[in-house]
Amino acid sequence: MEAESFVASRWTRGNRLFPTRIIVGDQSVMRRKRSWLTLNEESVHVRNVATVNITTGLVWSDVSIESSGGSDPITSHGHTKSDARRIKELIETLQARLTSGAGPGADAAAPPAADAADLRPCPHCAELVRKAARICRYCQRELD
Ligand SMILES: [Zn+2]
Repeated sequence: MEAESFVASRWTRGNRLFPTRIIVGDQSVMRRKRSWLTLNEESVHVRNVATVNITTGLVWSDVSIESSGGSDPITSHGHTKSDARRIKELIETLQARLTSGAGPGADAAAPPAADAADLRPCPHCAELVRKAARICRYCQRELD
């Protein structure tokens, strides 16, 4: 899938010179925000997105993408309603695909609690992750 990007309206607070951009790719959701001197990027793996909240005002919609890893949500305001809906829809489609790609026997509704035998420390951040995991749920780095 081609990454789709959504740019906040320049008519909204904080977006006049450097509007926030939300990029939804195959694997991750990224928020990109420029200022005069820096480019700030935050991203969360689609797998780790817990909820996508849309708050719609009179004209513009705010998008808040919460991750299950406990990090701060990715937020962006000043999107059109249709863009906000599209962001949510894309993320949900990607998540459904990841879940269905997990193979037979994988139950999306299975409780997340894993027994200790199924865990190992991540080589990058030392948090306990599942042995079968290919991406660390804490630091989002690839595991071997
Ligand atoms: Zn890690």
